[in-house]
Amino acid sequence: MSDEQSHLFYQSRQPRPFLDHGEGVYLYDEQGKRYIDGSSGAMVSNIGHSNPRVLAKMKAQMDRATFGYRLHFRTRPSEDLAAKVASLMPEGLDRVFFVSGGSEAVETAMKLARQYAVTQGQGSRWKVISRLPSYHGATMGSLGVTGSPLFTGPFAPMFEEMPKIAAPTAYLDRDSLSDEERGLKYAEMLREKIEAEGPDTVLAFLMEPVGGASTGALVAPDSYYTRVAEICAEYGILLIYDEVMTGAGRTGKFLAAEHWGITPDIVAMSKGFGAGYAPLGAVVARGDMVEALLDAGGFLHGFTYAGNPLACAAGLAVLEEMEAHDIIGNAARMGDVLKSRLTGLMDRYPFIGDVRGKGLLLAFELVSDRDTMKVLPKEWNANVELVELAYERGLIIYSRRTRGGYEGDHFLVCPPLIITEPQIGEIMEILTDALDAFAA
Ligand code: PMP
Repeated sequence: MSDEQSHLFYQSRQPRPFLDHGEGVYLYDEQGKRYIDGSSGAMVSNIGHSNPRVLAKMKAQMDRATFGYRLHFRTRPSEDLAAKVASLMPEGLDRVFFVSGGSEAVETAMKLARQYAVTQGQGSRWKVISRLPSYHGATMGSLGVTGSPLFTGPFAPMFEEMPKIAAPTAYLDRDSLSDEERGLKYAEMLREKIEAEGPDTVLAFLMEPVGGASTGALVAPDSYYTRVAEICAEYGILLIYDEVMTGAGRTGKFLAAEHWGITPDIVAMSKGFGAGYAPLGAVVARGDMVEALLDAGGFLHGFTYAGNPLACAAGLAVLEEMEAHDIIGNAARMGDVLKSRLTGLMDRYPFIGDVRGKGLLLAFELVSDRDTMKVLPKEWNANVELVELAYERGLIIYSRRTRGGYEGDHFLVCPPLIITEPQIGEIMEILTDALDAFAA
């Protein structure tokens, strides 16, 4: 069927070939052309495509039951997956609420925070401070905390927009501060915002530990993470980590929070957690918070498909597969290899301004001047052009022309966490060829 005849629509009419099947880090279209999945879809397919263990576990569950409504039954897959998730979390984060995607996870985290505050006699607290730039989802609640006009667009009048502070964009700052000082400077913006808003109105601070779609793998200086956590504790503000993209091993640890020894009050996960096998996400919260909610009459929230046994069976098999093959360890090791290979491209292409990220959440950015990080002319449409040049050559990468208050062409190179060194070689070969064509 041609694109013109299609009854389906997403963001655009962009025609793409029909997907036939996937295997490991590769995808094949109906014409038999092979693509290396250099972005895991949208940072989703962490353990690669068509994993036999996961498919077998899903098929076994399908033969028993694909749905059991949570008010009518508990199910083993959801109970077992919750226990498994709790065992992988920092101490104290041991209560799990399943959802079907990242936006739902963020909504759930915010509603949980708010309802908990009410049970604590803190009904005056309702503001969720988030950052600019940031991406937290497409639903109205998650858009309210998303810091990007590109996404909030015409919808802004339709929801209550929450207060924002600047996310650290250290590589853009041309000042004489050390990394540590710069991290503290940005963290102090949180304190200033809390004071400006009125501390007894602020419920939570929400952040992506490593920026994804919004910033292209932007990592803050270490001092930022610790100071932000201290400030939240000082004001009794809940710290919510949106690990929808970073969670489930993407940065080389199960949670990105582990890199800094941070225990947030609430964590939201999705993407790599269901790893493309099922629409699945999880919100993990402190046990005492959840107990307080349940004691006060229950959590006023729910999604029909939340925690369905088929999705949970898939999630459990994904985590088992990750453990069985030390896939997170591989993400850390291969992340180092890929990052240094990408950094090497900077010698050859002066228009690559920056390579950044953690584990296998990596990005490079194209600029017209590396010293000033001046962006490429918009008319070049570089974010689309380079993606297309790579796609034609059988490499899938992910790009966005957004850097919060700035515009910029960044490209996420985030293959499945099972990637091998020779496969990184394949990615680099195609990417170099595409960059040569772009430069020509
Ligand atoms: N939070 C973050 C950090 C994300 O990267 C995304 C998706 N890009 C979301 C939330 C929303 O997830 P979903 O698209 O599954 O609703």
